Amino acid sequence: MVSPDLLEILRCPFCVRDRPGLLVLHKDTWLVCQESPEVCGRKYPIRDDIPVMLIDEGDKWIKVKVEDLPVPPPAE
Ligand SMILES: [Zn+2]
Repeated sequence: MVSPDLLEILRCPFCVRDRPGLLVLHKDTWLVCQESPEVCGRKYPIRDDIPVMLIDEGDKWIKVKVEDLPVPPPAE
């Protein structure tokens, strides 16, 4: 599990400069940016309890619907 304290401070690295970029935890294995899909739509995998907060990583999942995200996330 990722600690709730950590989850509270994490923000989408793509959005954070211009927008709130709040993230929602999905099935304990993904962090989904809450901005509209038109501006972001990035999802960040949590691997071995470590959120991978890289824009490049989030980019890979823009077109994947939240309900279609693989659980657990694939290895890199
Ligand atoms: Zn975002």
